Amino acid sequence: MRWENLTVDSEHSRADAALFGAEAVTTRTFDTPEFRGITFHEIRARSIINRVPGASRMPFEWTVNPYRGCTHACVYCFARKTHSYLDLDTGLGFDSQIVVKVNAPELLRRQLASRRWHGEHIAMGTNVDCYQRAEGRYRLMPGILTALRDRANPFSILTKGTLILRDLDLLRQAAEVTDVGISVSVGFTDEGLWRTVEPGTPAPERRLEVVRTLSETGIGCGVLMAPVIPFLSDRPEQLRSTVRAIAASGATSVTPLVLHLRPGAREWFMSWLARHHPHLVGRYERLYAEGAYAPKWYQRRITRQVHELAQEYGIGPTRAGMPRRIRPAEPPRPEPAEPTQLTLL
Ligand code: SF4
Repeated sequence: MRWENLTVDSEHSRADAALFGAEAVTTRTFDTPEFRGITFHEIRARSIINRVPGASRMPFEWTVNPYRGCTHACVYCFARKTHSYLDLDTGLGFDSQIVVKVNAPELLRRQLASRRWHGEHIAMGTNVDCYQRAEGRYRLMPGILTALRDRANPFSILTKGTLILRDLDLLRQAAEVTDVGISVSVGFTDEGLWRTVEPGTPAPERRLEVVRTLSETGIGCGVLMAPVIPFLSDRPEQLRSTVRAIAASGATSVTPLVLHLRPGAREWFMSWLARHHPHLVGRYERLYAEGAYAPKWYQRRITRQVHELAQEYGIGPTRAGMPRRIRPAEPPRPEPAEPTQLTLL
C-alpha cells in the first residue's frame, strides 16, 4: 500500500510530494518541547476500518489505527516495518515522522453506520499506539470512542500511553452499552532498561498507575507483559518483581509475550543491542537464528514462569469488581502485514 491509497487532501508541499507522490498531505511541526524534531503528516484517509489479513491467526479481525509511526519510539517495535509501506524510514523516521488521519472520527462514524458493517469487534493500538503523544494535540480518540459508543460497537484498546485516562468518562459510557477491553503494555519494571529501549514512553510505574486508576474506577484492565527481553528482563527475580508490581496495580490479567524481531524491527533492535549490550549480540543471533521468534522452549519457559507468579500473586479473571461488559483486551499480536482498507462507502 502506498500513500495515494490514504489521502484525498489536495494541499501539499513539494517535499511531501517527493515523499508521498502526487496526492499529498499537510505537514506540520510544533515548536514545543514534547514535539521538537517531530514532523506530523496530516492526511484525510479514505477508509479507517482495516481488515487484518490472515485474521484467522489473530485474536481480532478488524482494526482502527488513527496514526502511523509512534513517538514512543520502542526500539523493538514490530510496526516499524509498516513505515516502509509509505516509503518512510523504519528507524528514526518511524519515531519522528507521524502520519495523522485527521478525519478518523468522522470517517469511522460513517463506516459504522454503513449497511455493510455488522458491528464486529474493533481492536485499537494493535499496530501503533493510539494514545501516543500526538493524541494530546490531535484529540482523535474522543471522537472515535464517541462513534463506537453511539453504535454500541464492541472494541478493545492496547496502549502504553497514560493519556487514556483523559477519556475515562467515554470509556465508562461505552462499557455501559457494549463490550470494552483495555490492556496496558508493561514488559518489565527495570528503569535503566526502560530509558534506553522505550525512550518515548511513560515510565512503567506510570503505566501501572493507569491500570490502578482503571481498576479503582471500576474499569478492569489487563496487562500485556511485553516484551520479555531475553537476557535483559528475563531473570527470575526480574520476572517476579514485574509480576508483583502488576498484581499490586490491580490488573485483571497478565499475558506474557517474548520479544520477537521481525524485519524492520530486527535491524533497529540489533544495532541498539550492539551499542548498549555488545556482549549479547552473539547470543541473540543464536536465539533468533530460526527467524523472528525465540525458540518454542524459551517462550514456554517464560510463559510458565509468569503464569506461576501470577497465580502466586493472585492475578486472574476471578478478581472481584469487574463489570460484565469490561474485560481485558485479547492478547494482541502483530498484524502480519499491511492491513487492507475496508471500503464501505
Ligand atoms: S508504544 Fe507500541 S506502537 Fe509505539 S513504539 Fe512502542 S511498541 Fe511501537
